[in-house]
Amino acid sequence: MGTALIYDEEMTKYKLLWVDPACKIEVPERLIVSYEALKNSGLADRCVSVPVREATDEDILLVHSEEYLEAVKKTPFMTLEDLQEFTLQYGDVYFHPNIYHCAKLAAGASLQLVDSVMTGKVRNGMALVRPPGHHSMRSAANGFCVFNNVAIAAHYAKQKYGVKRVLIVDWDVHHGQGVQYSFEDDPSVLYFSWHRYEHQKFWPQLRESDYDNVGKEKGEGFNINVPWNKVGMKNSDYLSVFCHMLLPVAYEFNPDLVLVCAGFDSAIGDPEGEMCASPDIFAHLTHLLMNLAGGKLCAVLEGGYNLTSLPQSVCQTVQTLLGDPAPRLANLEVPVKVHLSPSTVADRLTGSTGPASNTQLSLPL
Ligand SMILES: [Zn+2]
Repeated sequence: MGTALIYDEEMTKYKLLWVDPACKIEVPERLIVSYEALKNSGLADRCVSVPVREATDEDILLVHSEEYLEAVKKTPFMTLEDLQEFTLQYGDVYFHPNIYHCAKLAAGASLQLVDSVMTGKVRNGMALVRPPGHHSMRSAANGFCVFNNVAIAAHYAKQKYGVKRVLIVDWDVHHGQGVQYSFEDDPSVLYFSWHRYEHQKFWPQLRESDYDNVGKEKGEGFNINVPWNKVGMKNSDYLSVFCHMLLPVAYEFNPDLVLVCAGFDSAIGDPEGEMCASPDIFAHLTHLLMNLAGGKLCAVLEGGYNLTSLPQSVCQTVQTLLGDPAPRLANLEVPVKVHLSPSTVADRLTGSTGPASNTQLSLPL
């Protein structure tokens, strides 16, 4: 069936044009080294190469407001000063004359991936994109993100292919608040995110990133936040949360499609995450998700700022999507303690106390 790889060098062609310490880590090299690693390891040649396309206005409006789209459309014609001023209204993001074009390609690449998987051209795949998407909101750029690639992809899959249930797994080290907002009242999209939190001291410092934000109205129970209240999480912690929290609920949810906000700032050496999980953990996380939705899995790059662990993690993910066995993990230790209490997600899905009801979404660290 095959694995799609979607990449276009064009998305390396924008960068920060002024001094901003918060944004200096989001560099074109992130994409360049990731693709080079896939080429050099021979993995890229084993994938089905799928071209990118620009997302259309209609695609972008699935998530974003017309007002915001029209504002971003003006950025290619702005002077440096205008771009800086435009950027100031948002948080931790920067604009460049070519970023609108790249953002359309990033969203479009995600949709090409959904098309490739949903039409059966491939079983699964990965889109290597810049700018990332999971922080951008209906009317706001945020956290290096312009358009919400994965949220757009989820809406698109529902609309174009009649997909009934989409699972979005966000293993980036930051909370994808844009994705949460997009689906918090929607029971057809189950959003799972673990993220560095430190009792709301870590960016984006939102109350709604905590474990007790489980969705709203009809979507209550379909939003799972796992806030890490300290750094240094290891392979065993990630595996434990996947096996004990995410997977029982994911199996009950029984998705038709799995989308991954594949950020690798949750790997060791990343200046943002400060976590200690090794790149090969992503082989295991990917493998565990491949059992869902008949294997229909689309991974879309989000963060990842260490230019050593990022390409290694990307390779582990793609290698697993291709069907290679995951490497044996060394030095697994006892995971952080997880308390037990009812999970509204499982209660909502089954109306009773299923196996997932014994998991708790709070990590008392
Ligand atoms: Zn991130």
